[in-house]
Amino acid sequence: MQPLKSIKYIILHWTGVPATKEQIGAVQTLDSVRRYHVQNLGWSEIGYHYLVLEDGSIKVGRPVKFQGSHCKARGRNTDSIGVCLVGGPLSKGYPTAAQQAALKHILPTLCLRHNVPVSNIKQHSDFEPGKPFCASLDMGAVRLNTEAKLRTMK
Ligand SMILES: [Zn+2]
Repeated sequence: MQPLKSIKYIILHWTGVPATKEQIGAVQTLDSVRRYHVQNLGWSEIGYHYLVLEDGSIKVGRPVKFQGSHCKARGRNTDSIGVCLVGGPLSKGYPTAAQQAALKHILPTLCLRHNVPVSNIKQHSDFEPGKPFCASLDMGAVRLNTEAKLRTMK
């Protein structure tokens, strides 16, 4: 894995797995996503730096000191942190209320820790338009929520 030398962006993703009848109750976990990336895709580690599960818990994937494998477009793997929401955003109920609450926590924390401006919180589709799953968040609201929380943290 390559070192991540500069952090300019935080990029949001979805695993994009819709909650079909068979999958209801079979929540994806850090381990299941890691298994998919390592065993099925042949990567050395999970591609995202953070994962936000459906219950709102935040899991650390690839350590931030290493480049992720989450947004090849425009070289973004070299200067961004990848945060992935678990679930199917085109299905009803996503993001879950718990995931929305988790974003209000993790995004301001990462902006502050890595000195990333709120305007540089993006979703994957901003760099790679052909990613329909990674295009479903109301980024205006996400950024407003992040700014509101940041004002209480500084
Ligand atoms: Zn994505």
